[in-house]
Amino acid sequence: MKKYQLFIDGKWQEAVSGKTFYSNNPSTGEAYAEVAEAGAVDVDIAVKAARRAFENSEWSNMAPSDRGRLLMRVANLLRDNQEKLAIIESTDNGLPINETKYIAIPSMIDVLEFYAGLANKIQGSTLSSPNDRLNYTLKEPIGVIGAIVPWNFPLMLTMWKLAPALAAGNTIVIKPSEHTPISILEMAQLFKEAGIPDGVINVIPGFGKEAGNALVSHPDIDKIAFTGSTKTGQLIMQTASQNVTDVSLELGGKSPNIVFEDANIEHAVNGSMFGIFFAQGQVCASGTRLFVQDSIYDEFVEQFVEKAKKIRVGDPLDEATQMGPQTSTDQLEKIEYYVSKGKEEGATLLLGGERNENLQKGNYYTPTVFGDVTNDMTIAREEIFGPVLSIIRFKDEEDVIQKANDTLYGLAAGVWTSNLQRAHRMTKKLKAGTVYVNTFSMLDTVAPFGGMKQSGIGRELGIEALQMYTTTKHVWIDLNENGFNWYGV
Ligand code: NAD
Repeated sequence: MKKYQLFIDGKWQEAVSGKTFYSNNPSTGEAYAEVAEAGAVDVDIAVKAARRAFENSEWSNMAPSDRGRLLMRVANLLRDNQEKLAIIESTDNGLPINETKYIAIPSMIDVLEFYAGLANKIQGSTLSSPNDRLNYTLKEPIGVIGAIVPWNFPLMLTMWKLAPALAAGNTIVIKPSEHTPISILEMAQLFKEAGIPDGVINVIPGFGKEAGNALVSHPDIDKIAFTGSTKTGQLIMQTASQNVTDVSLELGGKSPNIVFEDANIEHAVNGSMFGIFFAQGQVCASGTRLFVQDSIYDEFVEQFVEKAKKIRVGDPLDEATQMGPQTSTDQLEKIEYYVSKGKEEGATLLLGGERNENLQKGNYYTPTVFGDVTNDMTIAREEIFGPVLSIIRFKDEEDVIQKANDTLYGLAAGVWTSNLQRAHRMTKKLKAGTVYVNTFSMLDTVAPFGGMKQSGIGRELGIEALQMYTTTKHVWIDLNENGFNWYGV
């Protein structure tokens, strides 16, 4: 079994406690790697290393253009290792190999290249000032960033934080999910090989309550960048408030996906399938509430279920697989709980609703579709984070806007229509960080991503994300030869 240590100050080291934990392969249910488990002491050592690297080091003195070139060197090395990283990611979290090899890994490298290019384009402004003074702003790195990430897209979601943070000149301590630490540790090795100075990146695998909490409550962390559940996000905000630590939060969702009678039904069926079953439904933005207009409900649902039956569930490393196992057994049990709730509250189970009977060994679940769901049922209100779709009927625009926005979340929303005016009316009224029209679950490095309401605070990706990793300093220079005379005294 392969063993992994903590990555601190450019060196691989055991946890001070000597503790380890296992990372499981979700397609077999068996442990396949042993990982050092960081505790509060290790977090402190990592934060100190990141602080040293930030304050006075080769990194802190590096010209922005050189920083950009160095990050591009890392990106090239990641490209050379793309296939290997895809296999590691699929093995550790169960994403089908097509979704790591062709989507998650290339996309995370694209993110690094994008911010590498922006490293020397971060700029303040010269403000309008009277003749006897000069006012300008400097955009400076914040300092030491604590990044806490989930298990659904470990490398991609880490890079959303790591790349803008480093491009802006910060240093970072990353706490991967206890379910999926391996790919992030392998990536750290590539950063080291590409020449990123010691202490700039530190990776401390461990559990949320110990390592995660120690990172958030550490007095020398300048900002916490978190992706995970809304419940953990609330805890993090509370803990961070003790030191008034800056936080950005990318949290859960219960995104509406709305199909109008004037939509191209075939396109809407295909797009909505991707919207819910991509990555086993373990996508924060997935279209879990599918609203279908009354007049096309039966036709749409029939076509959807027929197609969903054909999804090939299986080994994530098999190129033919369309849906792999859920990442953890906890997640599998959570899905089972919600499916039983759906049945109990009167939704009609149209497909699935059970573990995969041919694949008993791993965490395999079947694509699941509930019809006749109402917006007040538990399966329409709470995030399941699995391949479980709730289909809800609606009458007209007014009805669906009310229902779609009747949620605690506001991450994404989708609209399927051939009516241009309706598309624009809907995009204005939907309360979500991203609105898709005639598509779903698309991502682009250049486009800001994040949530409204309880789906989060801040925007990752795009030029906008640099705001989250820089702070503004205002400089006031008095040009008056006579100086300033208080009350003429
Ligand atoms: P989670 O909240 O259980 O865990 C996320 C991370 O937080 C893990 O690394 C965990 O160890 C850590 N953590 C747990 N308790 C902590 C604590 N008390 N202090 C500090 N850290 C702690 O979430 P998860 O189950 O790993 O991920 C699934 C969730 O993530 C879903 O709700 C999903 O919607 C959300 N998500 C959001 C986005 C987004 O961009 N908005 C993207 C992906 C996932």
